[in-house]
Amino acid sequence: MDHNISGGRKIMYYLGMVLIAIGIIMFLSTFLSSAANFGDFHNFEQRAQQEFSRAVTGMILMVAGSVLMGIGRMGVAGSGLVLDPKKAREDVKPWTKMAGGMLKDAIEEVDVGKRITDNKKSQNIVKEVIKIKCPSCGILNDEDAKFCKDCGKGI
Ligand SMILES: [Zn+2]
Repeated sequence: MDHNISGGRKIMYYLGMVLIAIGIIMFLSTFLSSAANFGDFHNFEQRAQQEFSRAVTGMILMVAGSVLMGIGRMGVAGSGLVLDPKKAREDVKPWTKMAGGMLKDAIEEVDVGKRITDNKKSQNIVKEVIKIKCPSCGILNDEDAKFCKDCGKGI
């Protein structure tokens, strides 16, 4: 799809994603296992320590993963590790192009949404304009009129 993004950066991006996933699983499994062992105070301290270090490792993996994803996505310059705005912009280009496409889609969707509300508005206007034809003289009266405004007969 994008030839501008080097294979190495793609690998970093996906590796980062995997690291984050592993980190999240490790982090969450800590809560799951402490819930499973709830009320069991056998070896509590040791287990708590193990779970704590697992949670910390999970968090470190998540952070490392997001850094990797950032580098993979935007290059070393774009990740903020190297301050080089010009290079960063160049690195980000293929992705902003993609993001621009998504933005366009979003705007089009907003447009559709607006059109729907416009339709609703005009439906409301149509509803307000509904008139009842007088059975005697044929003059159009308001929807809620009880008597004809022209001939005075009941509708
Ligand atoms: Zn009438």
